[in-house]
Amino acid sequence: MVVAENVHKSFGRLEVLRGIDLEVRRGEVMCVVGPSGSGKSTFLRCVNHLEKITAGRLWVNGHLMGYRQRGGRLYELHDTQVARQRRGIGMVFQNFNLFPHMTVLGNVMEAPVQVNREPRAEARENALRLLARVGLEEKAGAYPRQLSGGQQQRVAIARALAMRPDLMLFDEPTSALDPELVGEVLDVMKNLAEEGMTMVVVTHEMGFAREVGDSLVFMDGGVVVESGAPREVLTNPRQERTQAFLSKVL
Ligand code: ADP
Ligand code: MG
Repeated sequence: MVVAENVHKSFGRLEVLRGIDLEVRRGEVMCVVGPSGSGKSTFLRCVNHLEKITAGRLWVNGHLMGYRQRGGRLYELHDTQVARQRRGIGMVFQNFNLFPHMTVLGNVMEAPVQVNREPRAEARENALRLLARVGLEEKAGAYPRQLSGGQQQRVAIARALAMRPDLMLFDEPTSALDPELVGEVLDVMKNLAEEGMTMVVVTHEMGFAREVGDSLVFMDGGVVVESGAPREVLTNPRQERTQAFLSKVL
């Protein structure tokens, strides 16, 4: 579902990703951990093509992101074609990023109607089904400010799912939440994983990584320092940098 090959990303002279190689299989849940500033968010943003990589190759669901291959040559895609590639990728951010002036239902229906041109009735039915799935059907008419952080994040997940993604990216989805609200969001993510969704999750929730993750990647300084089965990496880290990081967060 995702193949990253020697992915580099620089902002001016600052090289943030310094050759990332990894693969995410269909149905896999990959958790990404690492210190602040190690490039985790930048990597997710590159997968989602919110940022353009400066070197390397990145495939999502068999498509080379940002390019079209024809006759053995590569052509750069226009913005509208890139937007089409991005539609199969859902993203959930730390700060929810809901549209404040729209109801919960409006938030979930917006992209399917405006971007995918789904008929309103169909989008509405699907949105209500998704809200039920995240336990918020009764909040359909509420506005984001009337919800707790945990509820807002569950709406954000429903909103991403409304685009029927093949891949879901989560960037520290529980980091902005009060501790007592973390569990309800992780439960929704766990259900999603059990239903077979392919997920890449940047998180500090090591319990989630251990229980739900199929693989764990430790990033530091813009490279993958270590990766493997979560249990293995967490209990038996091989690299010094991984050990130092885990000793601080576990
Ligand atoms: P993480 O998510 O692991 O904390 P980030 O990917 O957010 O790390 O950031 C990695 C580095 O890239 C940081 O030094 C950050 O300041 C820098 N960075 C991220 N986005 C930009 C940008 N748009 N312009 C310049 N520097 C950036
Ligand atoms: Mg980040």
